[in-house]
Amino acid sequence: MNYRHAFHAGNHADVFKHLILSRLIALMARKEQPFAYIDTHAGLGLYDLQGDQATRTGEWIEGIGRLWDADDLPELAADYMNVLRRMNRKEDSLRYYPGSPELARRLTRSQDRVLLNEKHPEDGQLLKDNMKGDRRVAVHLGEGWHVPRALLPVAEKRAVMLIDPPFEQLDEMKRCSVALKEAIGRMRQTVAAIWYPVKDQRLLKRFYQDLAETGAPKLLRVELHVHPLDTPASLNGSGLAIANPPWGLEEELRELMPYLAQKLGQTKGGWTMDWLIAE
Ligand code: SAM
Repeated sequence: MNYRHAFHAGNHADVFKHLILSRLIALMARKEQPFAYIDTHAGLGLYDLQGDQATRTGEWIEGIGRLWDADDLPELAADYMNVLRRMNRKEDSLRYYPGSPELARRLTRSQDRVLLNEKHPEDGQLLKDNMKGDRRVAVHLGEGWHVPRALLPVAEKRAVMLIDPPFEQLDEMKRCSVALKEAIGRMRQTVAAIWYPVKDQRLLKRFYQDLAETGAPKLLRVELHVHPLDTPASLNGSGLAIANPPWGLEEELRELMPYLAQKLGQTKGGWTMDWLIAE
């Protein structure tokens, strides 16, 4: 396990993923009934953008760095940006960035639970330290691919699950579709979001096929591109495949994605959205 998310925290892929996660949570919270937030590959929870790892790559500068001072932010970005502003209120400039656990912890309500899993022993311990004191949060230091069968179904009968592996190994795309299949098999209404890198179109074609065969009731695919797809790049963009998206999400993304593409595009910004499984 070589991947450390601290090198990439706050980059364009994180902004895209976390902004959409903030909308998933907001839409789930329209109903009073509690839900569980589940993170199979959670990372550290929060990041210091002025720390050694983030500074070495500087990836966040072309990510959250482009939104931080923007005066044209859409209303739909408010929940996400408010978390960042609260985390940085004692700083002169942007310093702390929330990983998915911290974002979920701050955006969920007193009746909701936050169930986190991280396998890397050091990052897992940091995650535990970062989440200390919030009794709604449970941190497991185990195998992320076991999470759907270990935790689903949840007592709340409502769950948002983020599946966000590092894609260091070739089998991780396949494992994502297997995890989604398991999640849906154990709790059909699970709202599950899989983050994936957009770079190798040949691998992606297979991935989309596998996702389309998971048996999810509905599966929305949304992608943010920061370089044209036919240009060689370490990352042309990233995507989220979202099973059972809450009502209203598709419409919100039609509003948000053009803004993100324009703000985060590097050689050329773009976005796509369609249904891999339509109702
Ligand atoms: N979800 C986090 C966020 O948005 O802030 C970022 C997660 S990062 C992309 C992927 C994480 O998965 C890394 O922290 C890595 O240590 C962890 N990881 C790698 N293999 C894993 C496995 N098999 N099970 C659980 N975690 C794993």
